[in-house]
Amino acid sequence: MVSRKEWYARVNAAWPAELPPLTADEAVKAARKLWRWGLGEKYRSKIEVTSGNRYTWERYGVLSVNPTSTRHGGGWDAFIHDMSHLLWRRANGRDVKPHEKGHAKFELSMRKEVLKSAAGSVARSRKNRNRKSRPQ
Ligand SMILES: [Zn+2]
Repeated sequence: MVSRKEWYARVNAAWPAELPPLTADEAVKAARKLWRWGLGEKYRSKIEVTSGNRYTWERYGVLSVNPTSTRHGGGWDAFIHDMSHLLWRRANGRDVKPHEKGHAKFELSMRKEVLKSAAGSVARSRKNRNRKSRPQ
């Protein structure tokens, strides 16, 4: 049986990889995508960009995303970490423990999802750039 600690080790091992920098636009887009991915429904409320040491979190129907957080390794790390807790709680209710084993699996698959979609957008922009040049 895989222990909780081992699951979190896997979460960290799935990183780092080549990702575009987490800009404000990228964070808003990724938040929408991950919401749909994690909860199976479209996020219809407001998303705003925040900064400083605030978490990426939803309060009073506003999803605040912080692309410049320095917590939890900053950048994508912090963003995915916070989003995974937010969506985990949304999916499982308020009483769920934040670091139970199921959460680590969830965070790991969220990271894989981000990598997959980042790889897709890198490939697409490369394709656009190279449209008239040699095929890859
Ligand atoms: Zn955590």
